[in-house]
Amino acid sequence: MKKAAVAAAAVFAVLLSVFVFYDGVLNKTSEADFFSMKTYVSAKVTGYESDLCTAEIQKLVENLDVNILSRTSGNSLVSRINKNGGGELDLQTAAYFSVLLDVCEKSGGAFDFTLGGVSDLWNFGSAPSIPDEKALAEALSHSGYEKISLSEGRLSMQDKAAVLDFGASGKGIVLDSVKAYLVTRDIRNAVVSVGGSTLLFGDKDFTVGIRNPEGNAGSYIAKLHMGEGCVSSSGSYEQFFEENGKRYHHILNPETGYPVDNGLVGVTIVSESGLLSDALSTACFVLGIEKGSALAAEYGCTAIFITEDKKIYIEGDADIVEITDTTYSYGN
Ligand code: AMP
Ligand code: MG
Repeated sequence: MKKAAVAAAAVFAVLLSVFVFYDGVLNKTSEADFFSMKTYVSAKVTGYESDLCTAEIQKLVENLDVNILSRTSGNSLVSRINKNGGGELDLQTAAYFSVLLDVCEKSGGAFDFTLGGVSDLWNFGSAPSIPDEKALAEALSHSGYEKISLSEGRLSMQDKAAVLDFGASGKGIVLDSVKAYLVTRDIRNAVVSVGGSTLLFGDKDFTVGIRNPEGNAGSYIAKLHMGEGCVSSSGSYEQFFEENGKRYHHILNPETGYPVDNGLVGVTIVSESGLLSDALSTACFVLGIEKGSALAAEYGCTAIFITEDKKIYIEGDADIVEITDTTYSYGN
C-alpha cells in the first residue's frame, strides 16, 4: 500500500513537471526592439513560436520600410511612384491605396497623403524651420489627393510634382501586415508598436496607456482597456519646434500648409484596422472634435480627443477609457 502511494506520487510529480515544462514552452515570451520606419519598433510575442515571430516581425517591418513605404530609400515602391508619376501596384498595396483615397475623400481632404512636398519644406525629421512662403505656396499647389487615380492596379498622378507621403499611415499598414503574419503562427498573444501605433493581438485583456501630451514618452494620462485591435495616436508633441513662443508641429492643414492650430494636442483612434487607426488619428486631429467625431463614427472607430485645456472628448466606446491623471477630465 505504501509502495503504491509512493509510485503514484512519483507519477504525479513527473506529470506535473511535464505539464509545467509544456506550459513554459507554450507561454514563452520573446521580445525585439529595433529602429525602422524612422521610429522605434517593439514586438513582444507570447506562445510556442514566439522566438520565430519576433525575428520574422523585424524582417517584415524592415522589408516594408525599405521596399515599399520609405520615401528616402531610392528603390522603394513609393519612391518609384514619386519619381515616375505613377506605377503598378500588387493587390494588397492597391487595397491600401484604395482605403487611403477613401479617407482623403471622407475627411474632405483634411487627410491628404500627397503633402510630401510641403512636409519636406518644414523638415521636421532633421532641422525644422518655418518655410519660405512662396516655396510653401508652390509645394501646396502640387498637392491634392484628387490628382491621384487608381485603376486596375495602376496608380497615376495627374501632377507629376505631387509627392506621396506615408508618414501618417505607413505605421498602420505595417501593423496590418504583421497581423496577417501572426494569424498564421502558433502563438497566444502579441503587442507590436511602431512609433505611436500599436497592434494588440490575441485573446487577452490588454491595457494601453495614452501618452501625456506634456510629458515624456513614458508618462500617461489615461488607460484603454481593450481586447484585440489597433490603437494609434497623433499629437502635436511628437515632432515640433518653437519660434517666438509659438509651437510648430508636424500635422499640417492641407488648406494652408501650416501646422493645425485648433486647440487639440492629441487624438487616439481604436480600430480593428491598423491602417484606419493610423490614418484616422491624423485625419481627426486635422478635423477637430466635431467633424473628427463624425468621421470616426462613419468608420465605426472609437476616437479620443485631448485638448490644450486638458479635456478629453470621446466618440464611440467610452467604457474602454479610464482617466488616470486627475488634472484631465471628460469634456463630454
Ligand atoms: P501621424 O503621426 O500618424 O499623425 O503622421 C504625421 C505625419 O503625416 C507627418 O509627419 C507628415 O509626414 C504627414 N502629414 C502631415 N499632415 C498630414 C495630413 N494633413 N494628411 C496626411 N498626412 C499628413
Ligand atoms: Mg497617423
